[in-house]
Amino acid sequence: MNNLIDNYIDFISDNKTERKCTEAAIRIAEKHGYKDIDKVSTLKPGDKVYVNKMDKSLILFNIGNDDISKGMNILGAHIDSPRLDAKQSPVYEDTSNKTGIVYLNTHYYGGIKKYQWVALPLAICGVVVKTDGTKVDVCIGDDPADPIFCISDILPHIAQEQMKKTASEFIEGEKLDAILACYPNVTDYKDPERDKYNPGDGKDKVLAFFEKKYGIKEDDFASAELELVPAGRARYLGFDRTLVVGYGQDDRVCAYTSLIAMVEGKTEGRTSCCILADKEEIGSTGATGMNSHLLDNAVAEVVARLDVKCNPELVIRRALANSYMLSSDVNTAFDPLNASLYDSQNSSFLGRGVVFNKYTGARGKSGASDANPEFIAKVRAKLYDSDVHFQNAELAKVDVGGGGTIAHYAAEYGMSVLDCGVSVLSMHAPWEITSAYDIEQAYLCYKAFLTMC
Ligand code: MN
Ligand code: MN
Repeated sequence: MNNLIDNYIDFISDNKTERKCTEAAIRIAEKHGYKDIDKVSTLKPGDKVYVNKMDKSLILFNIGNDDISKGMNILGAHIDSPRLDAKQSPVYEDTSNKTGIVYLNTHYYGGIKKYQWVALPLAICGVVVKTDGTKVDVCIGDDPADPIFCISDILPHIAQEQMKKTASEFIEGEKLDAILACYPNVTDYKDPERDKYNPGDGKDKVLAFFEKKYGIKEDDFASAELELVPAGRARYLGFDRTLVVGYGQDDRVCAYTSLIAMVEGKTEGRTSCCILADKEEIGSTGATGMNSHLLDNAVAEVVARLDVKCNPELVIRRALANSYMLSSDVNTAFDPLNASLYDSQNSSFLGRGVVFNKYTGARGKSGASDANPEFIAKVRAKLYDSDVHFQNAELAKVDVGGGGTIAHYAAEYGMSVLDCGVSVLSMHAPWEITSAYDIEQAYLCYKAFLTMC
């Protein structure tokens, strides 16, 4: 299984945006015989296809022998992670103080503790689309030869006022701007003109860099998706190397294990499906998120290519309503340093296997999908049979907070859904912690689930 973990570490180190994850997932799927559904006109049992939605979310299908209207076995993970997005007009220079510092202005994405994102190495990853339609891939900061970027913080010596603030005010969202360059314009200290500051020089130089390296002009940032993400690779954590620390493990840890379980799986009975969705961290919004027709449109494309006997619209509805789904998303790991937040008998622990989360939500389960016991029993039985270790947990103690996943969007189709994923320590921090054993158990769990009758 070391191979699985090593490959996982490579996957999250090399793919820090939803676009990169989609691209990599397509590469992996194609190696296993999956084809772009747009290039396939008919489907029969055994066929493998994927639906690529705007290069930001991906749905894979492996057609089973059973009538699709009896339902599919679906794994649903998300591939977006909290980060700082560049604004549409992001490059500016501090001209008022004549520091010559050039910044990237950002707007954070997803639930972050803002103070965690300062004073650490950051990389810029994403795409810029030019008006002629060309898409330029930008990635600076992850190659050890690259420069990195950083958001500054106040030194403790003069932070008395800052230290009085609450953590949510400690670093303001608007101040999450990363240093791109510093051109103080001093070339010779003997030069009497040394204090001469040319406003805008620094910004022009940064823009010139973007133009030279990527062929993009300042206007082109208006049609860009550039994400500031933690720079550097995921690593094994601890002397015994049983843990993994890395960026974006929520939810790429479940996305990767779901994907590998899917592409390696042999579908015989029910059709298998694996969803890698975008936008979960901001409420599954948009055309690439699960609160859209992403899934039913994809299933409609599949049904349109199958030889179905009755009304295709009814087949699609039945296929969805009769499906089993594991909403493969992460759960919070019990944290001994903050034990009072958890009900230890209903918490997930690092290294104890994949986690069932019957319900997420907050304030009396609000927003939860709340899985049916009939379905949980079925999944339990399958995992006992398959020797997969699992644990049952809630996020934390009642009323200490809450969260959600894509489970309730899938449940809207009437299918049986259970949240089931890997537990994560320091979730949503720039560097999140998981257990290699749990990653392995998640993979085994997803593999077993896809063969469930
Ligand atoms: Mn998640
Ligand atoms: Mn999350």
